[in-house]
Amino acid sequence: LFVTFEGGDGAGKTTQSDLLESWLRERGETVLRTREPGGSDLGVELRQIVLHRRGHITPRAEALLYAADRAHHIGTVVRPALESGAVVVQDRYLDSSVAYQGAGRVLDPTEVRDLSLWAAEGLLPDVTILLDLDERRGRERLSERTEYDRLESEADDFHQRVRHAYLALAEAEPERFLILDATRPVDELALAIRERIEPLLP
Ligand code: C5P
Ligand code: MG
Repeated sequence: LFVTFEGGDGAGKTTQSDLLESWLRERGETVLRTREPGGSDLGVELRQIVLHRRGHITPRAEALLYAADRAHHIGTVVRPALESGAVVVQDRYLDSSVAYQGAGRVLDPTEVRDLSLWAAEGLLPDVTILLDLDERRGRERLSERTEYDRLESEADDFHQRVRHAYLALAEAEPERFLILDATRPVDELALAIRERIEPLLP
């Protein structure tokens, strides 16, 4: 079972992934907790590059670096885990690329999706949880952490484009996506996520 979390920065993906992971482990599942960019050995290096060079890299080069991260991560980490029967709980996947490299950096979303699918040999998640959050609220939440600068560096409408791209993706594939209002209390969100996942467990 392959579960991905998507949403803007500060939406609570890490918190909800943690809660889902503990719940799955309590139920006796083997869980692989991972993320993109940076979920493989090569990916750790690529993550440094894409984050440090952010804003100073052409959109197509950025898209290709994310695709390289994805190809190696899926090939060496995620696919083997899925084949061994683990539940994979992943922070960000190809929808992030469609939203950030596509809508954010203004590349053709279909091309970015095709590139991602090529990189991942067509692997789609069984379930994608979209934690939808107004971009301002994301900023407020991040300003309480140390990541504020990172988000601040993008133009205002960048995050709006990303959010709308996510919502469009979710509307196009309602059977894969669960859209949740990220401003709801943490425990309510965790419950809604469990309810979505539970019927899919063996
Ligand atoms: O979610 P995480 O903190 O790992 O993401 C690191 C940064 O990379 C975030 O600011 C996110 O917006 C950005 N990112 C991106 N394109 C992706 C994935 C992440 O621009 N495909
Ligand atoms: Mg996070």
